[in-house]
Amino acid sequence: MAVFAGGVPWRWLGLAGLVLTLSLEAVARYVRGRRRPLCEVLFFPVPVTCPEPALSPGLSCPCPLPHTDSALSRLLRRILAAQRSLELCVFTVSCAPLARAVLQLHLRGVRVRVITDSDYMAASGSQIGALRSAGVIVRHNQTSGFMHHKFVIMDRTVVMTGSLNWTMQAIHTNKENVLISDDQTFVKAYLEEFERLWEEYDPATYDFFPDKDQK
Ligand SMILES: [Zn+2]
Repeated sequence: MAVFAGGVPWRWLGLAGLVLTLSLEAVARYVRGRRRPLCEVLFFPVPVTCPEPALSPGLSCPCPLPHTDSALSRLLRRILAAQRSLELCVFTVSCAPLARAVLQLHLRGVRVRVITDSDYMAASGSQIGALRSAGVIVRHNQTSGFMHHKFVIMDRTVVMTGSLNWTMQAIHTNKENVLISDDQTFVKAYLEEFERLWEEYDPATYDFFPDKDQK
């Protein structure tokens, strides 16, 4: 008591608090650094299975398809794990189960942004119209040359990229790969590319009569 009454220890208490805070931050950094990195690779094609166990977990589905795990169901679960944001930058989006997963996120309040190719968003079977109708913001290229990327970023912490277009043919017929990583160097690079394209494809800057301007 005498020590406290002397007034000296408050400075020391403050110092001790600072040391404790810095130590806890160092421990947190160490734990984060020691965490096993997420590094998964999915290969396609996969046989046709029911997507419902991934899209509607807990509900029993009476359909005759196998209800087994597959690269598609793992992809769906990764997407559905997003809590805050999803940046989707994919050339073709016609796979209904994957579009449903995106829609579920949107309806759940996750901030969803989509970039796709202008030619293929109008192709038969494209799910882009359905996503737009539901209120998902979609931007697309306007110039010649495809918007040919195939990557997705979840919660600004996980990136999925590879050869896979979001089509049933790619999933069930083609040889394709998807790499999933939470390496922040990759995530940051893909995020920067997404933001760059998002600005480039801002409808406010569309040129609706490019030929006319050249005359
Ligand atoms: Zn089923």
